Parts: sequence; structure tokens; C-alpha cells
Amino acid sequence: MNWIITDFEEGARLTFKEPNDGSIHWNDAQKESVKQALRDTYLPSSTAQLLLDQAVHINLLISESGSSGQYIENEKMTPTIMVDFTEIQSLYYIGKDGLFKNMSLERVLIHELYHTIENRHDLVNPETGETYVRNQPRNYNHLSFDHLGEVVRKTNQVMLEACLESEGDGRAGGL
Ligand SMILES: [Zn+2]
Repeated sequence: MNWIITDFEEGARLTFKEPNDGSIHWNDAQKESVKQALRDTYLPSSTAQLLLDQAVHINLLISESGSSGQYIENEKMTPTIMVDFTEIQSLYYIGKDGLFKNMSLERVLIHELYHTIENRHDLVNPETGETYVRNQPRNYNHLSFDHLGEVVRKTNQVMLEACLESEGDGRAGGL
């Protein structure tokens, strides 16, 4: 048995957090959709199991700030990510086949959890190995520039293993 099944009670290893100002609240349908998304990736994917089993606890902070793409850094023991359902529904990415794809809750959760649990960033400077800071010029033409990035690569692998996307759906680049 794995913890997604046995310990997936709220407050055990998963906490649904709300902003301190009380402006937004999780509803039951939203909580269930997150649990289902985690089950749907974890159960069929050994890559997702390797990732999520490292987390002692996961915090999910509901947000309406348009910042689902954010995670709270340096929270390795308690990975904390923001979930904005409205934003996720309006997000697209470019697939490996060059076509636009709808972002999914599963992809956002795994991507952001990978950032925080593994403490990895999307794109790094190929010469120094350091993460680019916002708006820093990026040497995209460098021969060893990793345009995909480890986080997207691993997320693509999880989505394939979980049969949630086909090969061409895999996200083509970082961020
Ligand atoms: Zn990212």
C-alpha cells in the first residue's frame, strides 16, 4: 500500500491551506479534484511515486492571484504550492508536436511539486549551471542549452506513464 491511498486524509500528509486573509476557501469538489489528480498520476507512474514518496507532507495553498506556477522555495520537508483553478483552465503550452495544448491540473501539480521536492529550476545557464533570475538574458543558442529542463522532462515522463498524455503532448520547453 502506498501513502496516496492509506494516508491521503486531509491533515495527515496533505493539507489544503487558505490565505490568512480568508479571502478564498477550498470547496469539496476542488479538494476531491486535487486528490484525484494526485492518485491518477501517482498510482500508475513509478516516476511520480519516486517523487511524491520523498514528501513527508504536502501543502496546497488555494489562490486567485494567477500564480499556479509558483511554489514556495526551500520548503523541502513540506512542499508548498499554489493552486489557482481559474488560471489553470486558461493556460496553454506548446506540445512537442508544435501544437497548443490545454494545461491540466495533473501537469501543474506534478510540475510544481517537482520544483519544490527536488529543489530544481526550469532553465539554467549552460555555462555556470546556475538558475536564471527573472529577465536575465538567456543564451538560447548555446550548444548545450537545455531548452526542456529537468522539471518539464520529468513531468512529461509522469504524464506518459500515467497515460494522461501521448508522446506529442509532452511539453516542449521550460518555465
Ligand atoms: Zn516550472
